[in-house]
Amino acid sequence: MKWIGPHVSTSGGVENAPINAHKIGAGAFGLFLKNQLQWNAPPLKEESIVKFKENCKKFGYTPEQILPHSSYLINLCSPQKDALEKSREAFIDEFKRAEALGLKYLNFHPGSHKGKISEDDCIKLVAESINIALEKVKGVIAVIENTAGQGGNIGYRFEHLSGIIDDVEDKNRVGVCLDTAHLHGAGYDIRDCDTFEKTIAEFRTIVGEKYLKAFHLNDSKVELGSRKDRHHSLGMGKIGLKAFECLIKSSISDNKPLILETIDQKKWPEEIKLLYSFAK
Ligand SMILES: [Zn+2]
Ligand SMILES: [Zn+2]
Repeated sequence: MKWIGPHVSTSGGVENAPINAHKIGAGAFGLFLKNQLQWNAPPLKEESIVKFKENCKKFGYTPEQILPHSSYLINLCSPQKDALEKSREAFIDEFKRAEALGLKYLNFHPGSHKGKISEDDCIKLVAESINIALEKVKGVIAVIENTAGQGGNIGYRFEHLSGIIDDVEDKNRVGVCLDTAHLHGAGYDIRDCDTFEKTIAEFRTIVGEKYLKAFHLNDSKVELGSRKDRHHSLGMGKIGLKAFECLIKSSISDNKPLILETIDQKKWPEEIKLLYSFAK
């Protein structure tokens, strides 16, 4: 099965996410569990939680088809002690929200060393942050997103992802989401089926396919290996449509949330349709 859909708005409450996804023919969706640009948010209302679950059931979204994304403020390897503590608290709060909603995954960016600590130390701190959070909640899988490597962010090499996973105690509750625009920015070529397969083969060797839980499907405004993170609509950027056809046709994208974070919401219905057409 292919489960394709965008990162939808939760305006008015999380319970609106499955409604928004259903309206545009999505078979999956991403969402924020709180305002992604603020540290503090009121807890989820019991009523919202109940309605979210009802709406997911009504429109046929199982936890396997939903990929919540954590706040952009969280830095799980912050070189500043107080900021690290604040990030870890916020990270645990995100996990608790995912758990309350009955979700399976929580997707997040690993963190940035800000040029103040080494990549290796950053990797160790991220793993430690994940271990702390996993101890506090049940069932939710920590899904690390690969990055383009902008601004001191680690996670732009598959070796970083495997390094984090190595230090996570509960290997059943850690995984990876591959963002195509971030792969491209980091220098992993996926622009045709040969290069896509080569990149995936490298992922299999270094990280392992069993850890691959989800994809973010985005074209990119920047050149291969530019280490920049600039999303674009599918087929309009430097990656090109072929990559997405290869990805959808490959069994690697079976039974995983395939989430669009493309820049033009008006194009989402046609992007979803196009991607599903590649699956036939
Ligand atoms: Zn992300
Ligand atoms: Zn992404």
